[in-house]
Amino acid sequence: MRPREIFLHALSREATPRPATGSATSVVTVDLMDKVGAHFPDAHRDPEGMARLAAAGHTEIGFDNVMPLFSVCHESAAMGVPVDWGRVDVMPTCRKPPYAIGDEIAIPDDLLTRETCAVPLEALRLLKGRLGEEVAVVGKVFGPWTLGYHMFGVEEFLVNTLLAPDAVKRAMATLKEVTVRFGTAQVEAGADALCLGDHATRDVCSPGAYDEFLFEIHQELAARLPCPVILHICGDTSDRIPRLRETGFDCFHFDSKVPTAAARELAGEALALMGGTSNFDVIRTGTPARIREDVREKVEQRVDVIGPECAVPLDAPFENMRMLAAEAKT
Ligand SMILES: [Zn+2]
Repeated sequence: MRPREIFLHALSREATPRPATGSATSVVTVDLMDKVGAHFPDAHRDPEGMARLAAAGHTEIGFDNVMPLFSVCHESAAMGVPVDWGRVDVMPTCRKPPYAIGDEIAIPDDLLTRETCAVPLEALRLLKGRLGEEVAVVGKVFGPWTLGYHMFGVEEFLVNTLLAPDAVKRAMATLKEVTVRFGTAQVEAGADALCLGDHATRDVCSPGAYDEFLFEIHQELAARLPCPVILHICGDTSDRIPRLRETGFDCFHFDSKVPTAAARELAGEALALMGGTSNFDVIRTGTPARIREDVREKVEQRVDVIGPECAVPLDAPFENMRMLAAEAKT
């Protein structure tokens, strides 16, 4: 079975000859950029550099998937959010939010041809053409909760879930269409699966708020996005994993703040699990013995795709991910 089939079978919890390895979020590090000669920040806005860097997730690290959307800013930039594209060793960030709650948000007709959407779409086409037979090509979109942070600012958005919940819901109803349009375009460009990032951790979104604002939207996104969907939420999500089982998402990309055994127990047998490997103790500073021990734990707890919990710190050595991937394949 090729890496692509192993990865996609793992997302639907079908049998595979070995555990799948990979990540729905960025695996790029500064030493990986040096290795393949494509660097941040240019690689965020150049399809060739973006594709070359993403391909290294397979060719240099050995993961079963590639994923070229390294930042959280592409669709938000196309929606008019000013973005600081960072530096070689600093990830991009969304800057001054353009809207206040209550403002009418307009999705531009040319959303998908604006540079910051068009570049990753072209990178996905390049990756599909070059590696698409061999590895899974994964795209990435953000859900309306995270997009709300970018459009309104985190504080304005969260305060108004209490003060003006109807206005927040109207905004999210518009923003979820950004997710669907960009996600569908990524599938048309060659993505086999999508990562959906929606940063609704307990500290910013209570279980009640998750049910009130997000649960139905997540069900709708799972149904409307035309491919397997990997939900990514960082932080401790133990309280909502059982709820995520009912969304229809195929896979949950979880953070090491959820103990692996608990994640498996809470996810049940239908929801696939990815990640859970600490970016700090294992990916950034792990010894070979620590990496082996972590892989063994993930295999024992039946994590379906073994890899880092979230975007890898840029100063981590990519060699540790190569060791992790190799270990998972033995
Ligand atoms: Zn994350």
